[in-house]
Amino acid sequence: MDDKLKEECGVFGCYSNSPVDASVVTYYGLYSLQHRGQESAGIAVYNGKEIKVQKGMGLVSEVFSREKLDKLKGSSAIGHVRYSTTGNSDIKNAQPLDAGTKLGPLSISHNGNIVNADVLRDLLEDTGRLFQTSSDSEVILNLIARAYKKGLSEAVSDAANTIQGSYAIIILSNDCMVGARDRNGIRPLCIGKLNDAWIFSSESCALDTVGAEFVRDVKPGEIVIADKDGLHSVNNMERTSCQTCSFEYIYFARPDSIIDEIDVYEMRSRSGEILYDESPVEADIVTGVPDSGIPAAVGYSKKSGIPYEMTLIKNKYVGRTFITPSQDMRERAVNVKLNVMKNSVKGKRVVLIDDSVVRGTTSRKLVEMYREAGASEVHLRVASPPVAYPCYFGIDTPYRTELLGNEGSIEDMNKIIGADSLGYISREGLVASLGGQESFCMGCFTGVYPVAAQIGRGKEVMGDHQ
Ligand code: SF4
Repeated sequence: MDDKLKEECGVFGCYSNSPVDASVVTYYGLYSLQHRGQESAGIAVYNGKEIKVQKGMGLVSEVFSREKLDKLKGSSAIGHVRYSTTGNSDIKNAQPLDAGTKLGPLSISHNGNIVNADVLRDLLEDTGRLFQTSSDSEVILNLIARAYKKGLSEAVSDAANTIQGSYAIIILSNDCMVGARDRNGIRPLCIGKLNDAWIFSSESCALDTVGAEFVRDVKPGEIVIADKDGLHSVNNMERTSCQTCSFEYIYFARPDSIIDEIDVYEMRSRSGEILYDESPVEADIVTGVPDSGIPAAVGYSKKSGIPYEMTLIKNKYVGRTFITPSQDMRERAVNVKLNVMKNSVKGKRVVLIDDSVVRGTTSRKLVEMYREAGASEVHLRVASPPVAYPCYFGIDTPYRTELLGNEGSIEDMNKIIGADSLGYISREGLVASLGGQESFCMGCFTGVYPVAAQIGRGKEVMGDHQ
């Protein structure tokens, strides 16, 4: 029903030496990161003696009650919201994961995908380590536990230099909280301050929610430790370069977040302006597919002078539990989620803007719905280039043959969509909307990845998402 790449996960943590209800802060932080994962949620708290973990399947509001939070008292906590593919949706893989180690109790929240996890898991199993889950995060936890003689900071550093792929990690111990980002900064992680407490979060929108002040982003390859002496940075990773996932800006992140100093809403609006420059069309109204197509539609309208109109209403209550029992109802799934306002489009030439198109199934249906509602022309404009390659960094991507971006020319793609015209922003246009630097992963558009050497496990769909 939802023709989008699927979000990965969200991580949040709060460390304080003062009496702070860290699990409550983390609960509200996770609430703001709910868009990053709806399959499971969890919080681990250090209560002065041990790390206690509560996790469950479902939304943050479903997993935690007042009573459950009351049992998670402590001044340091980390949390996680998780998305997973069907069949991989298992409480065992819900996070945070925890373990008793020679470094003391440790708990980890991880967003991303470790591309050499299988090899590392084999090596660890050969040395007698046992695994409880199929999660890459347990591999990281084991690597850290194995290097206990070096102390936590160096053990994390060693593990970070061994694992390859994408990760934003938060680790909780009995005396500190550690945040780390992969050497390419593919997944985001930022730092905030809430009175005396240090906060780590996937996105800055969660800092706003808990009332924390934004401090800075964790740099690619950086390990940041919050402890009783404050915040320390360990920056010993070689060959770091910023290659943040461009899809974070296009679709995943909330528009009120700022990632690596780029305002997500402004970027989306700018992409709409560039889209008009590259793919203009004469029309009566511009409209956006909710939610993430709307800022680009506003930008397209601003640049073209064509008035913006809200013409699609989204049913806010269609969630992950939506079932489509019959083929007939499956056909109508888009109608359940989105409805066109007939009076706003009747007899009009409409430019419909979406942030991205993956399979093209929803776009085809939407074009049909606009025609049925009486639009005289429907022109689809897309604020990202055609998605033509899979993602290896924790994003659920359909098989290549299912991607509309593999259909050949724009004309060929439009034969499937059925619009009066179809236009995508160019790769250069996307880079310009991101500020002009070539410091982003564009793998699903170009097939060129920041961690190219490690890819080749023969999988087109990465099923093990953290
Ligand atoms: S391949 Fe695409 S979705 Fe995956 S990290 Fe790169 S830009 Fe993001």
